[in-house]
Amino acid sequence: MTQPTAADDVPILGRCACGGVRLVLTPPTAFASHCHCETCRRSHAAPLVTSTAVAEAAFTVASGAELLVGYASSPGVTRSFCGRCGTQLVYRKAGLDRVYVPAAVLDHLDRPVEAHVSYEERVSWLAGVESLPCFHAKGDQALPWDTGRRASA
Ligand SMILES: [Zn+2]
Ligand SMILES: [Zn+2]
Repeated sequence: MTQPTAADDVPILGRCACGGVRLVLTPPTAFASHCHCETCRRSHAAPLVTSTAVAEAAFTVASGAELLVGYASSPGVTRSFCGRCGTQLVYRKAGLDRVYVPAAVLDHLDRPVEAHVSYEERVSWLAGVESLPCFHAKGDQALPWDTGRRASA
């Protein structure tokens, strides 16, 4: 497991699920936020998408560029994903010198997540997520820290 690091000069490596596409971001990133918009949600099949971004000059596709498939998800917006495994990897908006990348495909992030955006579009069933019981793997064995947390709640 890769731990977050506070070092702001370590290249940020990213890859899709199959490893075919590998990305390198040169820090510092511009921001990190949780996006709740419907387009992110459906594109990633996830309730929210945590994104970060760098300037084009700080973004490199280290391998697998030929696997990237792009489509226009909104006017002027291109989302690109790995054509082999389907992982969403890159978001670009026309006219912006920024490449947006989902934080979940990166090995580490050089900053904490700062905000929720498009929060008015959030799904209702995400509410209270931090108070749900936590289990090891997909089993029914509660994690020790979670048992204590819930007993004292
Ligand atoms: Zn892939
Ligand atoms: Zn979004």
